[in-house]
Amino acid sequence: MSALPPVTPPFDGPSAQVDPAGQVDWNAVRADFPLLLREVHGKPLIYFDNANTGQKPATVIEAMDGFYRRQNANVSRAVHQLGSEATEAYEGTRTRLARFLNVRGDELVLCSGTTFAINLVAYSWALPRLQAGDTILVSRMEHHANIVPWQLVAERTGAAIRVAEIREDGTLDLDALRRAMTSDVKLLALTHVSNVLGTVNPVREICREARRRGVVTVIDGSQAVPHRAVDVAAIGCDFYAFTGHKMCGPTGTGALWARREHLQAMPPFLGGGEMIKEVSFDGTVYNDPPHRFEAGTPNIAGFVGLGAAVDYLERLGMDHVEAREAELLAHLTEELARIDGLRIFGTAADKAAVVAFLVEGAHAHDLATLLDLEGVAIRSGQHCAHPLLQFYGVAATCRASPAFYNTHEEIEAFVAALRKVRTLLS
Ligand code: PMP
Repeated sequence: MSALPPVTPPFDGPSAQVDPAGQVDWNAVRADFPLLLREVHGKPLIYFDNANTGQKPATVIEAMDGFYRRQNANVSRAVHQLGSEATEAYEGTRTRLARFLNVRGDELVLCSGTTFAINLVAYSWALPRLQAGDTILVSRMEHHANIVPWQLVAERTGAAIRVAEIREDGTLDLDALRRAMTSDVKLLALTHVSNVLGTVNPVREICREARRRGVVTVIDGSQAVPHRAVDVAAIGCDFYAFTGHKMCGPTGTGALWARREHLQAMPPFLGGGEMIKEVSFDGTVYNDPPHRFEAGTPNIAGFVGLGAAVDYLERLGMDHVEAREAELLAHLTEELARIDGLRIFGTAADKAAVVAFLVEGAHAHDLATLLDLEGVAIRSGQHCAHPLLQFYGVAATCRASPAFYNTHEEIEAFVAALRKVRTLLS
C-alpha cells in the first residue's frame, strides 16, 4: 500500500512564477494550467472563453483533490478532527476572500456564485422592503443575473424597473444615470465590468452619488474580481456579488459581500441546518450573519479550491494580471481592427479583455463553430445579455476573452484562423 501524503494545510503548492524583481515568467504561469496543454480536433487548444469560465491552476485542482483524500468531513458540526479541519479550511477561504477584497469576513456570505448572491439580495433585502411607487434602476449592459431577479421583485412588489442607458461606444451615459436616480429609486443594480463590452464602470463615483441620494447599490463584480485588484470597501457599495469560477476557482462557488447593517436586518433566504441557533416548534432563533444565509451543507471542497485560487492570484499579483491582460487586449484589438468588415462592440477607454465582434457576411455561430474546428474556443450568442444586444440591433455576436495565461502567439493564431474560416463562409 502506498503511503498517504501527509496532512498539510490545503493551500500549499507551487507559487506563481514571479521573480524577486517582480518580473513574471508568463510561460511558467501558463504551465500551471494543465488543461491548456490539450488539443481540440487535433489542433492545440486556444482557450479564449474566459469571460464564460476560467481555467484552473494545478494548485486549485490539487487542493480539492487533497481535501477529499485527506480531510473530507462536514463543516461546523462535528467535534472530531476531520470536522474541525474541514471547518478551518472552509472558514480559511472566507478569511482569504475578505483580505483579497478588503472587507470583513463576517460580512461575506459564501454561496454558489453571483446568481445566488444577487437573488439573495433580491429576496431577502428587496422583497420585504420595496412597494408600488418604488423604482429599481438597472443598466442596459447587465447580465441576466442582474436583471431577472429584479423583474421578479418588481412583479411581486409593484415596483418599477428603469433602465440606465449606454452610449454607442459601450460606456454608461453617466449624465443620464444621474438624471435617472430620482427620489423613487430605492436600488441601483450595476455591473462593475460588462461581460460583453468589457466596459469598466466608474463604480466608486456612481456609488458615492447613489449613497448621497439614499439609493442602495448592488454591484455585480463577476467580471471585475478575476481581472484587477478590487477594493470593495473603497467602492462604497452596499452589496458586491462575485463568482469563483471566473477567478481560477471551481464552479459552484462565489460570495456576496454586504454591509453589516444590511445583513443584520435581512431575514433568512433559505431555511435549514447551519442557519439557526436553536429550533423548536415554538419558534426558531436564526444564526448571526453570515451563517444565517448559508443553510445546508456548502460546497466545502469547492471553497477549499477557491481559497487556493485566491492564494494563486495573490502570489501572481492582481496588478500583474491586469497589466498582462491589457497588453493582450491591445494586441487582439489591433489585429481584429485590420480585418475588413469586422465590427467591435464596446470600445471604452477603460476596458477589460473582452472583445465582442461580428464579421460582415458571417453568422456568429457559424464563425464560432468553424473556429472550434481550428482548436479555438470563443463564445457566440447573446452572452446572457439580450437587452444589450437589442440596443445594438444584433441577434448575436462572437466574443473572444483572453486571460493572463494566454499568449501573443495565440492571438496571432486566432486571428489567422478567423481570416481562414471567414473565407469559407463568404
Ligand atoms: N454577471 C456577469 C457580469 C457574468 O459575466 C456572469 C457569468 N457569465 C454572471 C453574472 C453569472 O455568474 P454565475 O453564473 O457564476 O452565477
